[in-house]
Amino acid sequence: MKTYLVTGAAGFIGANYIKYILGKHSDLRVVVLDALTYAGNLGTIVSDIDNDRCIFVKGDVCDRSMAEELFAQYKFDYVVNFAAESHVDRSIENPQLFLTTNILGTQNLLDAARRAWVAGKDTQGYPLWRKGVRFHQVSTDEVYGSLGIDGYFTEDTPVCPHSPYSASKASADMVVMAYHDTYKMPVTISRCSNNYGPFHFPEKLIPLIIKNILEGKKLPVYGDGSNVRDWLYVEDHCKAIDLIVRQGTDGEVYNVGGHNEKTNLDIVKLTIATIRQLMTEKPEYRTVLKKKEKDAQGAISIDWINEGLITFVKDRLGHDLRYAIDPTKITRELGWYPETKFENGIVKTIEWYLNNQSWVEEVTSGDYQHYYDKMYGSR
Ligand code: NAD
Repeated sequence: MKTYLVTGAAGFIGANYIKYILGKHSDLRVVVLDALTYAGNLGTIVSDIDNDRCIFVKGDVCDRSMAEELFAQYKFDYVVNFAAESHVDRSIENPQLFLTTNILGTQNLLDAARRAWVAGKDTQGYPLWRKGVRFHQVSTDEVYGSLGIDGYFTEDTPVCPHSPYSASKASADMVVMAYHDTYKMPVTISRCSNNYGPFHFPEKLIPLIIKNILEGKKLPVYGDGSNVRDWLYVEDHCKAIDLIVRQGTDGEVYNVGGHNEKTNLDIVKLTIATIRQLMTEKPEYRTVLKKKEKDAQGAISIDWINEGLITFVKDRLGHDLRYAIDPTKITRELGWYPETKFENGIVKTIEWYLNNQSWVEEVTSGDYQHYYDKMYGSR
């Protein structure tokens, strides 16, 4: 039985990851460490932690003594670090929090792991390492900066972040590699493109657009909507991390991407079209609409769900034009490829939100509305 420390697993990708590995492997147990910030929600993983293979600990990755105690108590085999402040817009508002959590939090975990791994000293006083403990850092394609209209990020692309968020993630990656080079710790890093899927917090593009459509609100799009992102279904990302953690080579970076580039405007238009299609095929979904207009037949109307809802808002400061990942290395070395076609993934995602409105209400019941009004006004 291997023991995993998975940080940030009450958030979007971490929650999907623990659900995936607990279902896939019977020979592991998971300790979740999460501070439950605005982006973390215990309800997302309550069915997973109601299980002796998954233990929840509320805590901050920056807390040194707690990290040491956890490592001493559970003797982890793997650490998978998802915990982060993850929203670029919020990093523009409050950079320091991002630097603290994303860089110092990572370094604190690395240190706790390093101290836990020392098995003794050799005759010259140098540390002897316990074998078999691995640290995986979940990073992002944003560390590479922005592409023009051509080309892809490979693992050899120089790191060149532009936002406080991406700068903090790039710094954390460098600290992880420094621990590998200096202390010979077994580490891996994955740099993934934009994820979408269930449990995505509705401040990010796709769930925000779904939520606003269902509420009959305007759909805010930055600038002229031409920024390009490469979208990957979250479960495909989780599968990639599982492979890297188990079979990846120490000291290596793996790019993970969907080969699925779309402009933000395309994403919004596709989301509108998919919601209309689903509500046409399954009219029972129309009952979740908050805007209740009747059509000529007296049924709940979806005529108003159209591209006229789109509203262009002031562009994000320093908005990167295009991200696109070349995932050749992980395909060649570990046999990973993006299994979920976007046309299917977006339908699965929207259906999940239509069927899980109580989750959306729960996670947006706090200061979400205050943040939303500050960013977009109360449209
Ligand atoms: P998220 O914001 O949904 O979740 C982050 C989680 O971390 C939350 O549960 C939060 O409570 C927790 N957390 C925050 N600060 C903490 C602290 N100090 N101590 C302990 N826990 C803390 O983020 P996400 O979208 O799931 O992203 C997870 C990771 O994947 C991040 O490291 C992010 O950089 C990376 N990533 C995300 C994407 C994406 O598209 N969302 C793409 C590539 C990489």
